[in-house]
Amino acid sequence: MAKKKRPSWDQYFLKLAMLASERATCPRMHCGCVLVKDRFVLATGYNGSLPGQPHCEDVGCLIVDNHCVRTNHAEINALVQATTHGINIKGSTAYITNMSCTTCAKALIAAGIKQVVVFSDFHDTLATDFYTKAGVEIVKLDIPDKLINYDLDVYSSAKKTEKSK
Ligand SMILES: [Zn+2]
Ligand SMILES: [Zn+2]
Repeated sequence: MAKKKRPSWDQYFLKLAMLASERATCPRMHCGCVLVKDRFVLATGYNGSLPGQPHCEDVGCLIVDNHCVRTNHAEINALVQATTHGINIKGSTAYITNMSCTTCAKALIAAGIKQVVVFSDFHDTLATDFYTKAGVEIVKLDIPDKLINYDLDVYSSAKKTEKSK
């Protein structure tokens, strides 16, 4: 068996952000965010409707000024998750699939994040200005391996259950 390349920590957390984005419900954008401190995942989020509200993919987007406003963005939802559980994200790194919008950048700055790691840009460039002026480091990396490399067939210590056969 060929040895798979082990992901770096940055690639690992970006892949987690990509995985979170799979839960997104707006067809115009699937975004994921993972807040990390000392290699510890504090919170995750994806862009989705408010709890109990209909999803864009079911009822269509809610467009205002050419933006869909139905969802909270991934960064806000990660912040909300941290807040709900009483987790202080000050000093953490935000791993995001896409560069933040201005609103999310301001929220993450106010919460004290120190670094943003992304692999794709967004149309709203004010976020970069806000981050830079606040001293938040922006790191742009290549998109990581899109596969989750888990192969139940090759792990000799694993045994398939009836459902995974
Ligand atoms: Zn939408
Ligand atoms: Zn946003």
